[in-house]
Amino acid sequence: MKTATINDKLSLSDQLLISDIADLASSGVKTIICNRPDGEDSDQLTFTEIQAAAAQHGIIAIHQAITPGQISGEQVDAFRQAVDAADGKVHAYCRTGTRSITLWSLSEAKTGVPAATLIERAESVGYDLSGMAEKFAAANPDAPRSPTPKEYDVVIVGGGAGGISVASSLLKRTQDLSIAIVDPAEVHYYQPGWTMVGGGVFTQEQTVKSMSSLIPSGVVWIKEAVATFAPASNQVTLEDASVLQYRQLVVAPGLKLNWGAVEGLTETLGHNGVTSNYRYDLAPYTWKLVQGLKSGKAIFTQPPMPIKCAGAPQKAMYLSSDHWLKSQVLGNIDVEFCNAGAVLFGVQEYVPALMEYVKKYDATLSFNHNLVKIDGPSKTAWFEVKDAEGNTQVVEKTFDMIHVCPPQCAPDFVAQSELADANGWVDVDQTTLQHKRFNNVWSLGDVQNAPNAKTAAAARVQAPIVANNLLHELGRENWVAHYNGYGSCPLTVERGKIVLAEFGYGGKLLPSFPSWVLNGRKPTRLAWWLKEIILPPIYWKAMLRGREWMVTPVHEKG
Ligand code: FAD
Repeated sequence: MKTATINDKLSLSDQLLISDIADLASSGVKTIICNRPDGEDSDQLTFTEIQAAAAQHGIIAIHQAITPGQISGEQVDAFRQAVDAADGKVHAYCRTGTRSITLWSLSEAKTGVPAATLIERAESVGYDLSGMAEKFAAANPDAPRSPTPKEYDVVIVGGGAGGISVASSLLKRTQDLSIAIVDPAEVHYYQPGWTMVGGGVFTQEQTVKSMSSLIPSGVVWIKEAVATFAPASNQVTLEDASVLQYRQLVVAPGLKLNWGAVEGLTETLGHNGVTSNYRYDLAPYTWKLVQGLKSGKAIFTQPPMPIKCAGAPQKAMYLSSDHWLKSQVLGNIDVEFCNAGAVLFGVQEYVPALMEYVKKYDATLSFNHNLVKIDGPSKTAWFEVKDAEGNTQVVEKTFDMIHVCPPQCAPDFVAQSELADANGWVDVDQTTLQHKRFNNVWSLGDVQNAPNAKTAAAARVQAPIVANNLLHELGRENWVAHYNGYGSCPLTVERGKIVLAEFGYGGKLLPSFPSWVLNGRKPTRLAWWLKEIILPPIYWKAMLRGREWMVTPVHEKG
């Protein structure tokens, strides 16, 4: 928790953890105000969880959720009233604390405190509210007017696998553009490593680095979240209501893990044998459960497509089963793969090799089984099951351990924007990755709607293509690069062997190596070595730094 003390009564911080509540109680806090809607981040504790923990310390919790960038006058008044009415100290929080300090500062502006004083005060406790000067002025007509929006040649939304890589690929080609990456996260995750954490191969720490260490030098990092897009006026609005003006926009905020879509899931994740490699903090729990299970029922779930790394749900099953087999307990464990889809893997060529392992581990494949509800304490899960005629019924299953892959969708702020297609994803041309209606908007990674496999491997190929094509749009490149839909999924079928699926649009196989070097349709040690030893440094040291090893775009005349 990064706390800022505002005055004797009010403090604020970024997202609280359960362990922070005791500290707040001992510092005399009697009221907690949560300014964050539930479900913004995949690892975010819900308000209900915070409220329950606060109650144990006699602290009242109030939910005043603020949609990023959309603070109303009523919300400012409600916040001020809650603080003023509270007995004892008050602690407010949101994702970074920005929404809470913004609410407070706006309420102060209404009482006549000048914008410059508010901005200075916020700065003294670590918050940059300089973009709010205009709003403060609007709340207090005597305050001075503010500067115009900050302008950049390129604004990149999201500093994940796609966002950082595209910034580096732009810098590799030209140094004279002003580039900003907007991302509120302190850290950047190597998510492909989480399967290995869940399988006891990597430590959690191997999959994370500070965001500041990865932002390329020469790029401005704006540590805020984007709230809304205004593509007609080439602007984005941030959570603190400040506005950025761009010439070119790259949209790469990833996708939303929709844990809340499965009833009861958020309440029990991380307890009662319920785990998921789709969260940094939970992947070690998978490994702990796997090591502890000696008999009983283990379920692995897969939601409807699209999901990122479509192989990850079954990778968890294979690595767990391999451990149980090697520790001679697999005979006592009933393994079941409950898949909302109708096939084991979308590209048929890889299925025979995978089926060998399904047989080896004696796993039951239950297709058209969609997890809809879970109850941790009674270790029960409910699945909507579709039959061949399309009739559905709900089937109940008990478990000792369950690995859940959550339903996935576009982030709300993207889905609600003009950039979205009917399903919420950024609507791009699948060959150029240019937006279909706004020529100066580009998208890559998980958030866009090209029908490729949503993987970091895909983003690695897409980044130099977007960089090239964006510069072509600015008249600085003569060629338009085309994306063939490449994506890759290293299926960890046992510890030490991988079936390396590499394919493009339409399931066309796109192997990186000739089959005499590495046959992706067979389990190989070489592919495991690539995943364990070679790919992490390729990610951190090549992809994120603009070294386009094996992914330099093939140019065609534009
Ligand atoms: P991300 O890397 O998720 O980054 C999105 C960034 O956007 C984040 O930094 C976030 O903070 C930021 N952001 C979010 N909202 C906002 C906002 N409002 N404003 C500004 N910034 C915002 N891929 C492979 O290639 N191989 C694998 O083996 C593999 N295995 C996987 C296993 C698991 C368990 C998981 C979870 C993923 C796996 N992947 C794998 C998939 C891969 O990690 C993703 O496809 C990849 O990270 C997508 O990159 P991205 O840039 O689109 O999104």
